[in-house]
Amino acid sequence: MYSVKTQTFTLDPNNPDPAVIAQAAERLRADGLVAFPTETVYGLGANALSPVAVGRIFEVKKRPFYDPLIVHLARLSQIEQVARDVPPLAYELAQIYWPGPLTLVLKKSPQVAANVSAGLETVAVRMPNHRIPLALVETSGLPIAAPSANLFTRPSPTSARHVLEDLNGHVDVILDGGDCPIGLESTILDLTASPPTVLRHGGLALDLLRQQIPDLQIARRYVKEDEGLPISAPGMLVKHYSPKSPLLLFTGQTDAALPRLRDLASVLAKQGYRVSVMTTTEDARHFTDLNLEIADLGSATDLPQIGRRLFDQMRRLDALRVDVILVRAPAQEGLGLTIWDRLFRAAEGQVFDLDMPLDVEEIAQLLESRKSA
Ligand code: AMP
Ligand code: MG
Repeated sequence: MYSVKTQTFTLDPNNPDPAVIAQAAERLRADGLVAFPTETVYGLGANALSPVAVGRIFEVKKRPFYDPLIVHLARLSQIEQVARDVPPLAYELAQIYWPGPLTLVLKKSPQVAANVSAGLETVAVRMPNHRIPLALVETSGLPIAAPSANLFTRPSPTSARHVLEDLNGHVDVILDGGDCPIGLESTILDLTASPPTVLRHGGLALDLLRQQIPDLQIARRYVKEDEGLPISAPGMLVKHYSPKSPLLLFTGQTDAALPRLRDLASVLAKQGYRVSVMTTTEDARHFTDLNLEIADLGSATDLPQIGRRLFDQMRRLDALRVDVILVRAPAQEGLGLTIWDRLFRAAEGQVFDLDMPLDVEEIAQLLESRKSA
């Protein structure tokens, strides 16, 4: 296992100290690992041209070798270094959405280390909308391969503290630039597919992309581990972004929905479970008189805030070692679709409908089986 003494530096996200950036860039050039904030989540970066450096990312994250990484650029002209036969649509989209939370899958250039792409003929690239990674790419002169800076299957890191929790002693440098402004990963769009296909929902809402791509396709998004992995769809495992505590996801819009969720919380608490509810501020009042751990995600009218807080609240509840996290799903529109996707995966693909009476016994059994799993 790649082991080092981790150094953390605090940086102004709008005006990072060039001396610190230079030091971090030096570590990258020496095949070291540098974690940095982006507008989406914290990335764990390595020189994308060095198979040795890239191998260290997989090692310290315990990431399966078949799950490819995203390459980060600082200027449009760098696309030619990492990709080949780049279609005009890529430049068109990049002009509009870069820097920003849109990752494009393109044909890979042979310069990029093969393990970046998990052996695929394609490479995923984006330009982050954050001064710290942009400065790192510029100063090092390197395209930087960077997945999220968490242990595989853990919730993505949205603060430097999260990175330290997962990777202390296994990353050379952590650049602490505060909390990530979006807090959800990038939208991934495969431009080698015809028509262009969304592989992962993310920080860029699909309605925007449809303006440029009317025939946009959405890939089948959820694959169970035992189904065998279609190689065109890595990173689509249902169990991903998970808290350690079982998370139960509920839909339901009728007036009966919240009282049913409240009853369930109350019954489980009486059975001795340490129950938490992850909820909007508006819904929280239905639960405040019960003795529960409430994780307030913010107002239902402010989806960006819910997105920003989601992974941090998952980690906070994990640290409290709650027995179960109950969540009512947001509407699947705009950024709500991305938030739904992350919750659905954390719930391992299981959803309960609050518009119907709940089988509390069945839910208690599910919790027991998840605990022993
Ligand atoms: P992460 O940055 O940890 O969210 O992971 C990067 C994700 O990007 C992977 O899990 C894949 O879903 C996706 N990805 C990266 N490269 C490719 C590629 N060449 N083809 C398809 N998907 C990719
Ligand atoms: Mg990840």
